Amino acid sequence: MQTLSHSSTVPSWHALLAPRCIACALAPGRPLCAGCAGDFFAAAARRCRHCALRLPAATAAEICADCLRVPPQFDVTVALADYAPPVSGMVLALKYGHRLELARALGRLLALRLCRDELAAALLVPVPLAFERQAGRGFNQAREIGRSLAAALGLRLHPELVLRTRHTPAQESLKRDERRRNLRGAFAVRGEVAGRTVAVIDDVMTSGGTLEEIARVLKAAGAARVVNLIVARTP
Ligand SMILES: [Zn+2]
Ligand SMILES: [Zn+2]
Repeated sequence: MQTLSHSSTVPSWHALLAPRCIACALAPGRPLCAGCAGDFFAAAARRCRHCALRLPAATAAEICADCLRVPPQFDVTVALADYAPPVSGMVLALKYGHRLELARALGRLLALRLCRDELAAALLVPVPLAFERQAGRGFNQAREIGRSLAAALGLRLHPELVLRTRHTPAQESLKRDERRRNLRGAFAVRGEVAGRTVAVIDDVMTSGGTLEEIARVLKAAGAARVVNLIVARTP
C-alpha cells in the first residue's frame, strides 16, 4: 500500500527551515548540532576549581599551581568552553558583529552546565561594561548572556548590583601589574550582598583581573561566596 508520508531520504521543508547550528552554521541545531556539541562543548574538560584553567590530564589536583600559590578572591569558576575556535569567533561576532542571538544561545548552553538548585539563592550579576564602551557598542554582551542564562534557570538578573565607577583603559593593552592597578577602585557594589552567594557572569576570562577585582569588592561588602560563570576561558 502506498503511503503519503515523506520519504526519509528527502529532506522535508521542516528540516530545511530548521535553525542552523550556531557553531558550524551547517547542520540543523537548536542552538548546536550534535557534532559541535560533542566537539566544542563537551563537559569532560578538567579545569581548576578556582579559575577554570585546564588542568593537565596526568594530575589528580583540583587546583592549578597559580591558584595554589595565590588563592583568588573568587571561590569557583565555571567555564563553558575554551576561548578557541569556533567559540572565540562566536564571542567576537556577538561583540563586534552585534549577533545578539549568539548571546541567547551561549547563555542557554551555559545554563545547561549549571545546577539550578545550587544557584537558586545566588544573586546573578553581569560584569558591567565601561560606560564609553557600552555607549559605542549599544549593549553589554555579559548582560545579554546573563539575561539568557537567568531566564533559562528561572532566576532574576541583577544588572545594577555591581557598577563601574570610572573609566579604565582597555585591559588588553596593559601589562599584568598595570592591569591590577588599572582596576583598583573601578567597581562598586550597590545593594545588599552580606552573607550571599554572588554569581558573576562574563563572556571571556583571560587574566581574570576584572573578575578578581569584582570578587574583591563583593567580599569586602560581605558576600559569602563568589562564583564566576564564563562562556570562554583563555587556555
Ligand atoms: Zn554544528
Ligand atoms: Zn586556578
